[in-house]
Amino acid sequence: DGEPLHCIGCGATIQTTDPTAPGYTPQSALDKGIEKQEVYCQRCFRLRHYNEIVPVGLTDDDFLNLLTQIQDANALIVYVVDIFDFNGSVIPGLHRFVGDNPILLVGNKEDLLPRSLRRSKLRDWLRQRANEAGLRPIDVTLLSAKTNQSVDGLLQLIDKYRGDRDVYVVGVTNVGKSTLINQIIRQNTGVKDLITTSKFPGTTLDKIELPLDDDHVLVDTPGIIQNQQMAHFLTGKDLKIVTPQKQVKPKNYQLNDQQTLFLGGVARFDFNKGPKSGFTAYFENNLYIHRTKLENADDFYARQLGQLLTPPQAVDKDDFPPLVAHEFKTTAKSDLVFEGLGWITVPAGINVTGWAPAGVGVLIRHAMI
Ligand code: GDP
Repeated sequence: DGEPLHCIGCGATIQTTDPTAPGYTPQSALDKGIEKQEVYCQRCFRLRHYNEIVPVGLTDDDFLNLLTQIQDANALIVYVVDIFDFNGSVIPGLHRFVGDNPILLVGNKEDLLPRSLRRSKLRDWLRQRANEAGLRPIDVTLLSAKTNQSVDGLLQLIDKYRGDRDVYVVGVTNVGKSTLINQIIRQNTGVKDLITTSKFPGTTLDKIELPLDDDHVLVDTPGIIQNQQMAHFLTGKDLKIVTPQKQVKPKNYQLNDQQTLFLGGVARFDFNKGPKSGFTAYFENNLYIHRTKLENADDFYARQLGQLLTPPQAVDKDDFPPLVAHEFKTTAKSDLVFEGLGWITVPAGINVTGWAPAGVGVLIRHAMI
């Protein structure tokens, strides 16, 4: 009693409060485990019994710790990003920790982007974004962990580039890293107890190792939690409404200046100044987009939030933070990005404002399409 319990799989301190953090065990499972005198965290339990990875998130400090260990390893780093939310996928400071280790950049969730978008162009675009973040990937590949598209191609690239190294798979939470690892396990199984868990030396962080066909391993590292995600402002059901599930169908709008588009009640786009222009919106297909006059927009939002403008739903609207304005002048064709939601492609030479809850990033980037 009083002594903290540790998972006998990975060594993490057992806790029953935060399902996304290391060591989580539901109370009922904990009670059973104590009875049997073998307490596993939920992640290790699922791994043992179902060969299934459960995503786990880390605090910044833990993550720094983890990166430091990767720095000392001789490894191929497989860096998984969500191509629909590149900015939300950036691991702060990753470039300082890679050392001489090669990076293979994986753009996941390819299934969300329109087929009309040339894949070579998209890979170039991803490479440029990586360069801006200080990274020089040896290769860039696109895939969909969910539909299993091109996962075999990734495995071939890993074999091509790893040489005599271990492989570390890194990514922030929500990019689909666990889904990807599960696909990899599925492609390689038949063998039971394929996976082992072990600790990063000197920490309680668990890593999951998949044996490769020599003495080396593929390591699944825990993901860092990005606190700036829309996920923190919406309930589960609403989050599902704004998160693209299938291929996104672009929506085109011809707008005059002084017009506004509401993206449900979660975000807003104002075209302040410029000639009549075409705009293309990339959001979840079922997210309701409402066009109105800029001069009426504030009033309209106050009256219609939780009514016409959902999510949030009426019952949740009082807890929903006010939208904050971010104004931009474009010098080239650009995307106005609402992090985690999607983006609007806007022409050069105009003035626009993007609105989102405080903490949700609104930024302008080189147009993807
Ligand atoms: P992790 O936190 O990085 O391990 O991410 P998860 O594997 O838990 O996935 C986060 C969310 O993204 C889940 O809702 C997945 O269903 C979804 N997801 C993962 N891979 C894909 C993909 O290739 N395409 C799409 N559309 N969604 C995906």
